Amino acid sequence: MTEPRPNDAAELAAGHAGEGDAANGDASVSDAARTPVVLERSRPPEHMAADKIECNACPVLCQISAGRSGACDRYANVEGVLTRVDPVLVMRRALEAPGGEAALVDFANRADAWDGEIVAREVFVTGVGAGTTYPDYKPAPFIVSSEVAGVDTVTVVTEGIFSYCSFRVKIDTDRWLGPERALVRHRGEAVGHVTTQEYGSQFLSLGGVHHLTGGSKREGRITCDLMMALGNKQAVELEIEGGSQLRVQAGQAPWVNGAPERRMRVGCGSATIGIFAQQWFGQVDEVVVVDDHITGVLTEHQAGKCLDMPASGIRMRGRKSTPGRYFQVANPGVGWGGTDVTDPLSIIEGWDAKVARPGLRLLMVSTTGDDAEYFVLDDALVPVKAPMPATVRTVVDRIGENCEPSLSTILFVAGAGGSLRAGVTENPVRLTRSIKDLLVHVSCGGAPAYVWPGGGITVMVDVERMPDASFGWVPTPAIVAPIEFTMRSADYAALGGHLDRVVPVAKALAGAQHRAAPWNPLNPWPASTLR
Ligand code: SF4
Repeated sequence: MTEPRPNDAAELAAGHAGEGDAANGDASVSDAARTPVVLERSRPPEHMAADKIECNACPVLCQISAGRSGACDRYANVEGVLTRVDPVLVMRRALEAPGGEAALVDFANRADAWDGEIVAREVFVTGVGAGTTYPDYKPAPFIVSSEVAGVDTVTVVTEGIFSYCSFRVKIDTDRWLGPERALVRHRGEAVGHVTTQEYGSQFLSLGGVHHLTGGSKREGRITCDLMMALGNKQAVELEIEGGSQLRVQAGQAPWVNGAPERRMRVGCGSATIGIFAQQWFGQVDEVVVVDDHITGVLTEHQAGKCLDMPASGIRMRGRKSTPGRYFQVANPGVGWGGTDVTDPLSIIEGWDAKVARPGLRLLMVSTTGDDAEYFVLDDALVPVKAPMPATVRTVVDRIGENCEPSLSTILFVAGAGGSLRAGVTENPVRLTRSIKDLLVHVSCGGAPAYVWPGGGITVMVDVERMPDASFGWVPTPAIVAPIEFTMRSADYAALGGHLDRVVPVAKALAGAQHRAAPWNPLNPWPASTLR
C-alpha cells in the first residue's frame, strides 16, 4: 500500500522559512538551512474539495474523490490515502530445491514469518506496481538492498513514465505486408510505419513520441492504447496503407488478411537450393525455389554446378543477379514465396530448345514448402503437371519440417536517460556512465534490457519476458513501464545514490502490500550478472 507521505503543510512552511532566511542574506544561516526542504507531495490546490486528494504521481495531478480512482486507474483515493491500485509485484526464484521447483510462497501478509536472508536471496522487487514519482527529483519508490553470493547489492525500482518509447514488431512471414515506409493504422489512426524486411521477417515500428504527441489528441490516445495492449501481450488489429490487414500478439502466430501464418521460411530461394541440392540430386532435373527476393534455380546455381548437374535450358523471368539467383521474378504478394504468383509457371519465360529435352523433370516449390508442384516436359517442351514422386515429396516435406513456427515478437524501446535518473542518484550522468561501464544491470519487470550504445539510456526489452500486465499509461499521453537498476552497493554509493533511502528487501516488503509471482527462468537473476 502506498504510504501517506509526510505532509505537506508543516514541511511547506518549513521550506518557505528556509527560503526566506536565505533571501535575507543572513550569513549565520548554515548551508543545511539554505537547502530547500524537498516536498514529496505538493500543496493541494486551494479550491479542491475537502474529500478529494491530489495524485502527484504524474503531471496530470488528478483530484480524486473518495472511493474513486484517477484517470489512469493506477491510483485511487482509499479512505483519504493515495493508494497504488495494483500492489508492487515481487518475483521469487526457485533455488536448487531437491525434487523439482520450489513452491511459491505467498508473501502477502506474512511479514512475521519471513526469514530476511532467504527473502534477500530469492526475491526480486520489480517495478510493476511500484509507483511513479513526479517530479523526478524524489527518490525512486523502492531502493532495496540484498546480499547475493556474498555481494552487497542495491536495486532501484520504479515505474517510469515514458513519452519517448515505441515498439519494434517482428512478424515472421514472407508475405508482402505493405511497402516500406507505409503508415500503419489502428482504429483508423496512424500509429507507426513499415520498416525493413529482414531474413524471413517483416519489421514494423509502432508508437513513438511523434504519434503520441505530434498529431491530433485522438491519434495520441489511440497510439497510447495500442502501445499498452502490445506491451501487455494482447492481440491488436493493424492495417497497413496499401497493404495487408494484420493481427499481432506477443509470442503468437501473426494473422495476415484473416489467416494465421504457420511457417517461417527455411531461407531465401538461393539458400533453400543450397540446403537441399544434394537431396534433389538424381530425383529431379531442375528445381525452382520461388521467392520474392531471390528465386533459386538449381542447375544454374553454384550448388548444382558443384553437383555437376547438366543445364536444363530453363529461361526465367526477372533480373538475374548471379548464376541461379534471380530478383523480381514477380510482384510482391501473398502467393508463392511472398510473391503474387499463384501459377508458378508464370515466372518461366521459356526453354532453350537446344538444351531442354522432353521428359525433363521439374520441381517448383516455395520457401516454406507450403506450395509445390511437379512437372514433366512434353515433346513440345511444355511443362505438364504430373503426380509428385514420393522421393521428391519427402524433400518438399523436409523444407516444411525445417521451417520454424511463425511468431510475432514485440520489443519495447524506451529512453530512460531523462529525469527518471534523478530517482536513482543526485548526479544522473553517473548512472548513465555506470550503465555504459556495465556496472549496472538494467531490467524491466525482471527481464534483461539491452542498452543501446551511444548517448542516453535507450533500453530495449522483449515484452514476452516481462510479467503480464506490466504496462500502464497516463493521459499526458505516455506509457508507464517498470524499470529496475541493480548494482553493487559500493557502486551505488559511488554514483551518488540516495543512500539514506536504501532499505533491506525484507523490511521494504514488510511495509508494503505486494503480490508474488514465480521468476521467469529465462531471465538471468539481476544480481548474478554483476561484474
Ligand atoms: S493520471 Fe494516474 S498517475 Fe497521473 S495524476 Fe492521475 S491518477 Fe495519478
